[in-house]
Amino acid sequence: MPIESSVIDVATRVQRGDTSAAEVASSALARIAALDGDVHAFLHVGGEAALTEAREIDRRRARGDALGPLAGVPIAVKDAICTRGLPTTASSKILAGWVPPYDATVVARLRSAGAVVIGKTNMDEFAMGSSNENSAFGPVRNPWDLTRIPGGSSGGSAAAVAARMAPCALGSDTGGSIRQPASLTGTVGIKPTYGRVSRYGLIAFASSLDQIGPLALDVRSAARVLSVISGHDPSDCTSLDVPVGAFEEACGRSVRGLRIGIPREYFVEGLDPEVSSSVRAAIRDLEADGCVVKTVTLPHTRVAVATYYVLATAEASSNLARFDGVRYGLRANGGTRDLRAMYGATRDAGFGAEVKRRILLGTFVLSAGYYDAYYLKAQRVRTLIARDFDAAFREVDVICSPASPTAAFRLGEKIDDPLALYLDDIFTLPASLAGLPAMSVPCAPTRSGMPVGLQLVARALDEETMLSIAAAWEARSPARNLQPSLVAASPPDTTPLRSNDGPRSVERLVAPQSRAASAPPEKARPPAPTDCSRPSLMW
Ligand code: GLN
Repeated sequence: MPIESSVIDVATRVQRGDTSAAEVASSALARIAALDGDVHAFLHVGGEAALTEAREIDRRRARGDALGPLAGVPIAVKDAICTRGLPTTASSKILAGWVPPYDATVVARLRSAGAVVIGKTNMDEFAMGSSNENSAFGPVRNPWDLTRIPGGSSGGSAAAVAARMAPCALGSDTGGSIRQPASLTGTVGIKPTYGRVSRYGLIAFASSLDQIGPLALDVRSAARVLSVISGHDPSDCTSLDVPVGAFEEACGRSVRGLRIGIPREYFVEGLDPEVSSSVRAAIRDLEADGCVVKTVTLPHTRVAVATYYVLATAEASSNLARFDGVRYGLRANGGTRDLRAMYGATRDAGFGAEVKRRILLGTFVLSAGYYDAYYLKAQRVRTLIARDFDAAFREVDVICSPASPTAAFRLGEKIDDPLALYLDDIFTLPASLAGLPAMSVPCAPTRSGMPVGLQLVARALDEETMLSIAAAWEARSPARNLQPSLVAASPPDTTPLRSNDGPRSVERLVAPQSRAASAPPEKARPPAPTDCSRPSLMW
């Protein structure tokens, strides 16, 4: 990981005047133009709007104004998060062309900290999925191997960071959608404690689970972005009124004596042996750093997938009722003037297959005859899952496991088997159901060079302890300094444009948006990682 790659390095250099925010933004746009035709991480590239934001930061610096902690840092924002003046579709046809009139709280906070929104990232439609194949606008490809998925649903955000198109991104995590793509793309991804970060302006999937969080190339950078977006927001009634932690400072703290729990139920059949040995090696190294390792038990893990898919679909069926052809985006009239027929035609044309499946499931589990048997029961089991964690956290400070049972699989491999995909969420769902902070940090890749992520889960609001262990591990992780070969192979023509090059140049930099969803990658590259400790590339 070159020094240039980090959020902190970019902000420091912009603050010092070693580089301008406009130069950084044009480097990011150039990298997107060079690589996103293959990766398809972006649905919308900021282009001129991003350069204008960046120039404003440079003007503020020239005036001697204090710059924020993210001065000039390009950030890619998941397309489920509202951005004033930039399209926001949640990768759904039903929202195609919708431009929000306001910024989500997180985006407003990023902008006032000096970050530049570089574009909106591809995702599974309405954040439903684990492979990014459910996007209405075509899948994202994993920068480490273009024949493989990047994970989901924040696959575009993870791929954008992994391909060094932006040093950080925002994702949203309902049941693993930040941690799992972070794991599959070799990036750091944090799901904060439920309520830590405002959901105002996040298009809701399952409101009792959804949390926004950062993806970045290193732990300290992710911690800085987390501190900027955290904090009470009166516009979100589930936002916690608690102090923002000292997340960045926690990254340098000693981990000696901290107790790490290994859940017995997580290292079982179905876990890829290479993933298992990579994660176990990370835990052994943390033990060598002075952590105390213990086995813990989370006995209700076996019912987490069923519980999540009852609760999340129930909430989704209610949240998605607002997309009716009247208030937002698409309207199909189905050749009739009848209102109900218009609703039906709009929802039929606008929603993809997975979204329809979940609305049907959710409507079923909430229906009068089945509410007690499914929804109510799942709520009770959710409490049992939370109690498992309460008991484990009486004995340990952080729980470590793989973030995903396998490394990235091939595009199309599980597309016809939604159940197989749901089962892959087994390691990330329990912490979501319990509302706990959790993250993924890269550990040793597989023999074929695909990234593997170590998941850490901490007590509610104890992101600091989680980050201290993550940073200690990162300092010795063999994944440090690796980057996808496609980044190294991307033309050195990513030299920054001068900030006054104007719209013509920006036009040239904007990535092609319309890739055929099913087109095979023209140049699938081997996943051989390359050493990126040479400070030759921007990201
Ligand atoms: N993979 C899970 C799902 O499909 C989680 C998605 C998410 O966290 N948004 O629902």
